[in-house]
Amino acid sequence: MIHIEQLQKSYGKVKAVNGIDLRVEAGELFAFLGPNGAGKTTTIRILTGLTRIGSGRVRIGGHDIVATPREAKRQCGLVPQHINLDSELSVRENLEIHGRLFGMETPYRRRKIRELLEYVELLDRIDTLIKQLSGGLKRRLMIARALMHEPRVLFLDEPTVGLDPAIRRRIWSLIKRVQQDGTTIFLTTHYIEEAEFLAGRVAFLDQGRIVALDSPQILMASLGEWAVDRMNGEGIETRYFATREEAAGFTSSQDCGVTLRRVNLEDAFLHLTGKKVVS
Ligand code: ATP
Repeated sequence: MIHIEQLQKSYGKVKAVNGIDLRVEAGELFAFLGPNGAGKTTTIRILTGLTRIGSGRVRIGGHDIVATPREAKRQCGLVPQHINLDSELSVRENLEIHGRLFGMETPYRRRKIRELLEYVELLDRIDTLIKQLSGGLKRRLMIARALMHEPRVLFLDEPTVGLDPAIRRRIWSLIKRVQQDGTTIFLTTHYIEEAEFLAGRVAFLDQGRIVALDSPQILMASLGEWAVDRMNGEGIETRYFATREEAAGFTSSQDCGVTLRRVNLEDAFLHLTGKKVVS
């Protein structure tokens, strides 16, 4: 569904995207994970036709984004990082504008608006002004808007940034439902647990390059199953073990405070990039 070959994009001396090769299959939920400035937004903007490609080749649903930009763009629904709804208009009016932009006929557009608002549980807010909605409701509406023209791929750029944990989980179940209903999802995030929970495959991005790409389970298993954190003079040092017994053996040999826990995706990220993902 998404086919990227040797994608590059520079801003002056900054190589925002530095040679990405990637294939995302139809129906996948794929996540780009990386620290601020890693190149996640630039990649999504290129794939969805908002930023000009530097060099390389990208096809979306078989359509080349340079040779056939309209067809490629038609395959894509985008939920950008920053809320860009028209705050003086109502929920219905925001969806109306999007439907018209994509040339949707009036009866179909109206039916689709009601259907999608029901899907994201916002039908009772259809005439509410955007400025009266909470952040979580705005995010759900942005997902509905991106789905209006029935794209084959939904791009989500940091879909839960700034939301509290309960609302974040609601957005996660919505994203899972969209995937189960047949849409391919390409997501960027710097919340590791979001990628771990949602994605079938994850790419770790660092300085415009993919430094690792696999399922969260395989990336974590490359370290072992158990981790022990130990404070030393410089900070927290983590050791990894294949079995709980080995980890417990190490723990009991220590005379200072240690914590035994399961390996998570953050461990794999830190190990592979040497960096913490922080907002
Ligand atoms: P964040 O999590 O902060 O959104 P990101 O991984 O999405 O980060 P990008 O926004 O793609 O990263 O930025 C990658 C690099 O390109 C950064 O060094 C950024 O400063 C630079 N960059 C991005 N857009 C522009 C632009 N329009 N002009 C100049 N530099 C840019």
